[in-house]
Amino acid sequence: MAASILSFARRKAALACDAHLRGALTILALALPTVAPARAEHAPVTAVASHIENAQDHTRLVFDLTSSVAAHVWPIANPARIIVDLPEVSFQMDPSANRGAGSKLIRAYRFGQFAPGRSRVVIDLAAPASAVRVESQPAPSGARLIVELAPTSAARFTADAQAAGAIPATKASTPPPAPIGLAPLAPTEKPVVMIDPGHGGVDQGAVARNGTEEKMIVLAFARALRDKIEAGGRLHAVLTRDDDIFLPLAERVALAHRANAALFLSIHADTLAAPHVEGATVYTVSAAASDAEAARTAEHENNADQAAGLETPAAEGEIGDILLDLTRRETHAFSRQFSHSLVTRWKEAGSLNKNPTRSAGFVVLKAHDIPSALLELGYVSSARDLARLTSPDWRDRAAGKTAEAIETFFAARAPAAVVAAPVAPRPE
Ligand SMILES: [Zn+2]
Repeated sequence: MAASILSFARRKAALACDAHLRGALTILALALPTVAPARAEHAPVTAVASHIENAQDHTRLVFDLTSSVAAHVWPIANPARIIVDLPEVSFQMDPSANRGAGSKLIRAYRFGQFAPGRSRVVIDLAAPASAVRVESQPAPSGARLIVELAPTSAARFTADAQAAGAIPATKASTPPPAPIGLAPLAPTEKPVVMIDPGHGGVDQGAVARNGTEEKMIVLAFARALRDKIEAGGRLHAVLTRDDDIFLPLAERVALAHRANAALFLSIHADTLAAPHVEGATVYTVSAAASDAEAARTAEHENNADQAAGLETPAAEGEIGDILLDLTRRETHAFSRQFSHSLVTRWKEAGSLNKNPTRSAGFVVLKAHDIPSALLELGYVSSARDLARLTSPDWRDRAAGKTAEAIETFFAARAPAAVVAAPVAPRPE
């Protein structure tokens, strides 16, 4: 214990030096003898509350924890954010309380799991700011983590963010390690449907006024859909995430490739300022958005990585390969065919958007060889949609219709499926 504290202290000194140079701050709570030894090996630290304190010259974000934790705090630009990296912390707080409204420096903040064993708080800045102090103090809950921000110039913020990005151990663009639990899939003769519940972990997605989070709505729907598909017996359904964990967009597509998926369906729920807009929409990928609303939705959903504090990767160049182009065209035709099948079935379930078939440049739909669609189940900003989205009955019926649409899509492609799977038993 003493040795590890000593080595912590050395690391702290080294990091404090880095921090000074690079705009990042690290604390390790050494001055809390009443807290640290009480913490059992690997016992999870729980965050029970958080609040913002606004002062004339600074703003503090405060977390009440059951025990002290090491925190690494660093800035990231475009848009301006402060990232607080923590070991695994279980956030057991009212989800509707994490908004940050009314602060001069903090526009919003969110928190959750970032990768196995790692948690993260992402602070969206309302104005350029530096983390000037990061401290752990004893508190009635166990410990209090204080992140103090002070206003800075835009130029200084950018310089700090560039410097922080140069620290290899916390490089923002490094994707988190592959999530636990995604062991290689068992070989299956059935076509694989990859269901992708959007968001997760630190990225909560759209949040309803009552605090209901998109990441939980879509996970419940994805699980119900998987069960319907599996019960049908003809297809094998797999989820990109079956837990409340963060997954980068590229990793979702990579999982579909690894599973040799024959269809990729990303599940989301949207939000709008206009509370009367309701109903489900099915999106496919296109270079130019079908309409302004589709462009807005794609921009919003493509920001998922950014919401978790990853840097937005540079747009990939178009590959001028004719074979790839042909594959892409064929895949796109299948994607549209599936999207029509889905809209037809959802008509029967009701609750479709007025303009339910749209397209835009969704990053998560860009696999060139897997037919892909994104289903926005509805709007959490609509009271009627929210009642549907959180109703187990509605979920069961809508997941059933979605599974039927998927079955219809594969039935139309049956000859190809048999060729691809020579040992597959005939259904009849
Ligand atoms: Zn979403």
